[in-house]
Order: sequence, then structure tokens, then C-alpha cells
Amino acid sequence: MARINGERLLADLRELASIGAYQTGVDRVALSPQDVAARRWLVDKLRRAGLDASMDRVGNVLGRAPTTKAILIGSHTDTVPKGGWLDGALGVGYALEIARSVVESGERTAGVDVISFEDEEGTYLPFLGSRTFFSDIAEQEIAAARSKDGGSLTSALQTIAGEPAPHRFDGKRQFCYLEAHIEQGPRMEAAGNRIGVVPALVGIRRYRIRSHGAANHAGTTPMSMRRDAGAALIDLGAKLNGEFQRLADRDTVWNFGNMVFHPGAANVVPGEGEMLLEFRDISGDVLDRFEAALQRLVADANRGPATVEVETTARIPPTALTEDLGEAIAAAARAHGEEPVRLPSGAGHDVMVVARHMPAAMLFVPSIGGISHDVRENTSDADIVFGCEVLADAVARICAQA
Ligand SMILES: [Zn+2]
Repeated sequence: MARINGERLLADLRELASIGAYQTGVDRVALSPQDVAARRWLVDKLRRAGLDASMDRVGNVLGRAPTTKAILIGSHTDTVPKGGWLDGALGVGYALEIARSVVESGERTAGVDVISFEDEEGTYLPFLGSRTFFSDIAEQEIAAARSKDGGSLTSALQTIAGEPAPHRFDGKRQFCYLEAHIEQGPRMEAAGNRIGVVPALVGIRRYRIRSHGAANHAGTTPMSMRRDAGAALIDLGAKLNGEFQRLADRDTVWNFGNMVFHPGAANVVPGEGEMLLEFRDISGDVLDRFEAALQRLVADANRGPATVEVETTARIPPTALTEDLGEAIAAAARAHGEEPVRLPSGAGHDVMVVARHMPAAMLFVPSIGGISHDVRENTSDADIVFGCEVLADAVARICAQA
């Protein structure tokens, strides 16, 4: 089995973090000069490691091992604005170190191909890189994509327009995908877990709920004669919250992200209201259960003096990952004396796109204080190295079975 070099891994991650460094974190949003520089740095590292590497014209970096079969390993090197140094970078650093160790070991049957997908964070278009890699994106979507400040993706791509045509998934060669990532939450640290195996990524449903009543004088209109759009939403929200507690599975989460009333004054009965709701779970059944409760309680609310309507604004299905591959990671963790925890991912990752096209698994390492998407994001050096050792062991196990 190829042995990884922990010192070299940490040195590479620190070098990568210096590109676009911002305070203790990194600002390397997709297709910024810093992002492109980091991607060129990665190409250089991969070539030195003996891989055939290049950045394509959407910014994806692919390094191909000198073998005919390969496990694809990677993540992303773009960040959110003023983000942390490990979100995405950790998984790419692991891929680089493991690919390099496999080349050094002289293994010629199955190697490790390394990928850094572009714009995972959605500065212009979430999962631009992974969706392009699997030819799972329409030209019109690219043409229409804009950043928050109005910059077009098409013009951002101009800076790398001279690079080769997009890298594409090679199903004859790449037989599975592994992604390592920081947890970005507090659960592993709180429970003392060093390795998480992700069985699935949550599905998400989002709703905009609007209420319509009649604005009127809050001092002179008797309670029994009001059509209060605000009270209708408060009442509905409280009932939903109670019902969700009853219907939830262990890992279900829900959020009332916003509630606003119009016209919005202490002495005016609200005539209009709006509330944002989302819920997440790895089970489609749980999501269906929550949605049925929402419809039922909204129907009840409509028997009151105000009217309530629901608009679905997002419907992202859960993504199940490949059990055998997750089991290989778990076995590797146990071989290193660590009982892994099964932990669904509450956030989105490139593996969501990848898993639609090939067997895929995901490994988590703990985040100190559960902090992510912030310059304080961190994981201990020991946990960073340990995660890579476990993933390298998993790679050996998967290759032995293949
Ligand atoms: Zn990420």
C-alpha cells in the first residue's frame, strides 16, 4: 500500500492557502485571478508528481495517473468570499498526496486521477465544473449565469478561453469517485469522532408562504373583525414547528428563514405577510411527510379570516452514495483504530453531481468549533493527516477489490 507523507500534505495545503490568503483564511472565488493561480499551481504540482495534468477552459483541473484504470479523487479549490483554507482544498490536497504516493509506490494497475472542479461554491453557477465534466449542463445555463454583482460567467471564462476543451468523464478508465471534505458542522468534534463516512447528502425543499388579509387600524378594529395576515403566519409557523418535531427523523432539520409583514407598523394590522421555510433530510419519505403536514396546516389556516398560499421554490432530491465504497472507508478507519461515524451531509458537494454518473463515496474530518465558510475554519494538523491516511488505505482496499 502507498504510504502518504503527512508533512508534505500539510506543506502543500499551506502553500495552496497562501494563494488568495485573506486574514487566517482564503478569498479565492471562482474564476478570480487567485482561483486561476491556485489551479495553475495544482497543475504544476500534479505534473511534478508524474501525472498528465491540465486546466481546461471551464477551470477544471484534471491530473491523470500513468495507469489504464483510475480512482477519481477530488473536490474544489474555489472558495466563498472571505472563506476558510480547507473547504474544498482539503479534498484536493488529499487527492494530490495520494496520487503522488501511488506513483511513487510503482503501482501500475490502478492509479489515482485528481480533479479540482470549478465553481462548486456557486459564485456564478453552482457545480459548474462537476456538471461540465459529466456533460450535464446546458449552454443556455452558462450563457445566463451571473454573479451576485452582475458579472457574467461568459466574460469571467474569457480569461481562460485559450485553455484546452473541457475534460470529460472517462467511464472506461475512472471506475469510482472519492471526495474528502471538512464536516463544516460541530457534530464530529462534539462526539470525539475523527472519521465520518457519508451515506447520503440531504435533499432540500424550500417554500415561500404568503398570507393575505386586510390592513386596518390596530386600535379601532375589534379582534373578531380583523383579517390579520401576520397572525395567520405566526399561528401557522408555530403549528408547523410543533408538527415537524413530531414527524422528524434523527437528522431532519428545518428552518423558518424569514418572516415579514406589510405595511409593517405597530399600529397597523398586517394586510400581507411572507414567510420562508426550508427542510432537509436524506429520506424522501421524511420530506414527503413534512410537505404533507405543510399542505394540511395551510388548508386549516385557510379556514380562518386570512388566506394563505404556498409556492415551492426549491426541490433538491437526496443523494445516496455507494455503500461498498463507504464500507471500504469505514474498514480503513477501523484498521487505523478509529470507529467511524455515519454522518449525512447537510450541505451540498460536487459528489452530489458525480454520484448521478458513477459509484461515489465521501469522507469527513472534523471542523474545529464546527466553523466553516469563515476565515476561522480549521482542522487540527493531526486530524488532517489522519484523514488522508485513512483515505489512502481505502484507496488500496478498493483497488484490491476491483
Ligand atoms: Zn466545499
